[in-house]
Amino acid sequence: MSKPMHQVRVAAISKALPGIISIDVDGDLLDADGGVAAAPRSNRLEPRRCVDDHVKIVLPGPAGQAGSDSPEASPLLRTYTRRRYDPATGAWGIDVFVFPHGGPGSSWAAGLAVGDVVTVRGPGGHWQLPADPGTVLMVGDPVAQPAIVNALEALPQGARAIVLLEEGPHRYPLPERPGAEIQMVPSSPGGSALVEAVRRVPTPAGPWWAFVHGQADMVRPLRRHLRVDRGLPKDHMNLSAYWISGRDAEAWRAMKSDFNRQMIADSGD
Ligand SMILES: Cc1cc2nc3c(=O)[nH]c(=O)nc-3n(C[C@H](O)[C@H](O)[C@H](O)COP(=O)(O)OP(=O)(O)OC[C@H]3O[C@@H](n4cnc5c(N)ncnc54)[C@H](O)[C@@H]3O)c2cc1C
Repeated sequence: MSKPMHQVRVAAISKALPGIISIDVDGDLLDADGGVAAAPRSNRLEPRRCVDDHVKIVLPGPAGQAGSDSPEASPLLRTYTRRRYDPATGAWGIDVFVFPHGGPGSSWAAGLAVGDVVTVRGPGGHWQLPADPGTVLMVGDPVAQPAIVNALEALPQGARAIVLLEEGPHRYPLPERPGAEIQMVPSSPGGSALVEAVRRVPTPAGPWWAFVHGQADMVRPLRRHLRVDRGLPKDHMNLSAYWISGRDAEAWRAMKSDFNRQMIADSGD
């Protein structure tokens, strides 16, 4: 079932990181007239509780009708990780990576101004690290970096992280985290170099977990590798295929359930 839609106001926009548009919104949800509702503390988007927390932005305007003039046409939705979250105010922020061939999500972010109202669906996500995970293998493509940084920040003290990130045109700040080894892997078609780099990582001694986010062509073989070659239990993994080459987010959403079913079947599950 779809999550409810809410409206929030843009509080700040930063383009300090080249190619990345950082958008921060107020915590308070707006009422139908655009005013802050009377009981703002109880009128906030759910707090960020999990490392895969994300929201869907409902893109505004006529461009928000998916290729049709029909009023029933679905709005265009674009998904972004909530990278920042302030529990005191409920304010939160996303980082939109802009690509030269980017679609409506990139254009929306580029055209946004402070004070604009944004419609949001969510938040989504459910995965939490256990209190004592041992080692966490974290694998991501460039747009998964906000989620990987959230996972790094959630890493319990004493735990180890092996992080493999695919290089991209954007430089994203990565935290220095005791116990975390970060390896940058050159970009390659379908993320194949990243897949090969993961295959070369020795299986951690003791309990371990995997957090793998990014393009579908990279996530699918890695699920099979982790399940079949490494024997990692499925409840020790959080995998999310964000996007697929050559399809926009609508086309990807339409095929994603089948893709996920096939990916799970690939691993014999
Ligand atoms: C859970 C989740 C969290 C996400 N978090 C973030 C985030 O924090 N920041 C962020 O920037 N993105 C994030 N994404 C990815 C983002 O939702 C997609 O990249 C989205 O398709 C971008 O929309 P668009 O309108 O710019 O491009 P679309 O209209 O969807 O696509 C246009 C073209 O660009 C290609 N394309 C789409 N995404 C990429 C990409 N990442 N790299 C290269 N080509 C691409 C498509 O295949 C298509 O050919 C997340 C996705 C998910 C599912």
